[in-house]
Amino acid sequence: MRSSKGFATDKGLNASFPFGDSLDSSQLDPAQFKVEPALGRNCGSCTLCCKVFEVPVLEKPAGSWCKHCQPGKGCGIWETRPDHCRAFYCLWMTQTWLAPEWKPDISKIVITVDPLTGFLLFQVDPGSANAWKREPYYSQIKRWSAAYLAKGLLCLVFVNKAATVVLPDRDQVLGVIPPGGRILTRERLSSLGATLDVEVVAG
Ligand code: SF4
Ligand code: SF4
Repeated sequence: MRSSKGFATDKGLNASFPFGDSLDSSQLDPAQFKVEPALGRNCGSCTLCCKVFEVPVLEKPAGSWCKHCQPGKGCGIWETRPDHCRAFYCLWMTQTWLAPEWKPDISKIVITVDPLTGFLLFQVDPGSANAWKREPYYSQIKRWSAAYLAKGLLCLVFVNKAATVVLPDRDQVLGVIPPGGRILTRERLSSLGATLDVEVVAG
């Protein structure tokens, strides 16, 4: 598991899309997100972060189980696990407004907040690569995308290292973002209304 990877971003004019209909927008302010487990939240049988994220200190790539993980049970080296792992909690663990169906071993999606940009990141189990397109997840991610975009922030879905940005009007495949790469956004106005152009540029 890991803390979220940071991406630099240049923001152009941000399109103004309506807020989602089921969330208080203040719940989506990353600065307000707690970093400790919420009361009543525990990993239980979930070990998905030990699969989906890379752990450089263990030379563990994203998308394959850590050699120390006992899937569905826990960490085999719990007492001596790397600091990298000790520091990590997914958003489901810290945010009680995330409903039970968002528990990662149910949704097959681990949600984090990028520490540099505040972007909402959805790291999908590569064994269920289309999990984010299932309901109720896809509609909810779309609503969060609209709410986040109004704050100048993006929602990114990852399957291993491959990124897709979820926008209210479309999903755009970005591919693998190179080290130091940046995501640029710019609002484009046309007779059909505002569109947000998104592109990745090398660092
Ligand atoms: S993904 Fe979240 S709930 Fe699952 S094991 Fe990791 S921290 Fe716990
Ligand atoms: S060392 Fe333990 S906590 Fe860290 S990724 Fe491996 S199994 Fe998970």
